[in-house]
Amino acid sequence: MPAYDNTLEDIKNRLDIVDLISEYISLKKAGQNWKGLCPFHAEKTPSFTVSPAKQIFHCFGCNTGGDIFSFLTRYENLTFPEALNVLAKRAGVELKTRPGTVQKAGEKEVMVSIHKEALTFFENNLTKSDQSQKYFKGRGIDKDTQKLFSLGYAPQSWNALMNFLTKKGYKAEVIKKAGLISQGAKGFYDTFRHRIIFPIYDLKGDVVAFGGRSIDGSDPKYLNSPETLIFNKRKVLYGLYRAKKAIKESGYALFMEGYMDVITAQVYGISNAIAPLGTAFTQEHGKLIKRFVEDVVLVFDGDQAGIKAAKKAADILLESGLNVKMLLFPAKEDPDSFLRKHGKDAFQKLLDNPLTIIDFLLKLKADKRVLAREAIETISRVPDKVLQGEYVKMLSEGLKINEVFIIEELKKAGKRLSSGYNSAHGNAVPQPRPGPRPLDDVITLQLLLQQPDKASEFAAKFAPEDFKDPLSREIFQKIKEGISDVNALLPHFDDIGKAYITELSMRDEIEDFEKAMEDCVKKMKENKRKRMLSEIQTKIRDAEKKKDFALIKKLQIEQQLLKPGE
Ligand SMILES: [Zn+2]
Repeated sequence: MPAYDNTLEDIKNRLDIVDLISEYISLKKAGQNWKGLCPFHAEKTPSFTVSPAKQIFHCFGCNTGGDIFSFLTRYENLTFPEALNVLAKRAGVELKTRPGTVQKAGEKEVMVSIHKEALTFFENNLTKSDQSQKYFKGRGIDKDTQKLFSLGYAPQSWNALMNFLTKKGYKAEVIKKAGLISQGAKGFYDTFRHRIIFPIYDLKGDVVAFGGRSIDGSDPKYLNSPETLIFNKRKVLYGLYRAKKAIKESGYALFMEGYMDVITAQVYGISNAIAPLGTAFTQEHGKLIKRFVEDVVLVFDGDQAGIKAAKKAADILLESGLNVKMLLFPAKEDPDSFLRKHGKDAFQKLLDNPLTIIDFLLKLKADKRVLAREAIETISRVPDKVLQGEYVKMLSEGLKINEVFIIEELKKAGKRLSSGYNSAHGNAVPQPRPGPRPLDDVITLQLLLQQPDKASEFAAKFAPEDFKDPLSREIFQKIKEGISDVNALLPHFDDIGKAYITELSMRDEIEDFEKAMEDCVKKMKENKRKRMLSEIQTKIRDAEKKKDFALIKKLQIEQQLLKPGE
């Protein structure tokens, strides 16, 4: 991370953490700080604290903390480089890219801006196209919804978009690279012609691709942008940028089959729906969703093809460590038709009681043995052992088979599966919360952070070994190296380190700094002496067992030297 150091400082100097966080949650002034309800855990009294003086936040309820970057990555579920981009833009700081990536970064930006221009073109054409308006009217999609999803229309022309973009100054080669025109024997032509256009956004809210649906029944029914520098369909989900807030609020994501399902759901006030681009779900999709929630509900068509697709999607998402539930529609119904016929309340009723994956499989009424085999195969993909156990129990009850037999088959299936299995399934073991840290370590660091100007001077009075707690020692080492300002320190540590540092920085100032510091030096030395004494004690005991008298003698001298001065 040091490569970013100057840029981070630049950005931090230009932005104010209270302004930034106020855009997401409401903060009230409380003394020197601002307080609000923590967005990272449920609480009724505010323990989320923002310090304008130090430009950090800390929640005393869930022990999270950090700077503007930590806040944004957490709140918006962005990666660090993504958050860096957003905040750099906001601060008006230009990001220096490492040599070699310059070309690519520049090209990416061009790709993004060309998509933005193209979207304007498609949106403007939509209002002029009677045919698309008729199509939307038929599907109950009004002007507001069209606007909400920035829907557009690609006119029936071979070069309308190309001409538009060329006039804006883009070269044909670049437009082709963006996937918006294709090249044939007679030259370039627009990729999307006479189609309804669905812009596809990435998590930052940039349009990175388009989906086009044919209006007149010509093939293919759906046409997507090809993969480009900025678009990888395995990693993008339709509607996620808009739905992420609702997904977090509702606690689950609604996985649907296609764009139109997502839009219809929105028309009926269901905002947490998303869909893959094309047909298949991928592990990457699973991981993407896992950044927001643990639970997903699959909503697929009730016909054979829909059920098959749902089963396949469930297997992949289960492997990503997501808890997968299903909605099963009556045959010949899909989410779209169901919502239109029965309305939101009926849909919500289904949503309130989704089927577990086992119930879903049991409902398929296949041959009992086939069903058992399929269900066991599915269960074996679940990385969470507790969840696996629950599924085994459900299956045992549902099929009236003894659990023992299922577990036996499960072991076999697990082995089969684990031969082409990598362990990178994003199901990280939750970090244990650190226990209380040694008080003297804490106070010493608190003092050092309280006076960043004098910190390195005072740090000279301590050695890293004086600190008992490894994390405290690490922080001390950075301070000793001269990184004593809280904002300079934060980027060097992970979430646990950040929370520790912000917690220390938020503490009330200790009065009589010099005296307190002196006490700390004494206490830390004393602690260290005691620790060393007990270490020698252990070594002596070992030496006694081995009857190594020479060593015992040597250790006893060391021990004598450590005893308090007489
Ligand atoms: Zn909290």
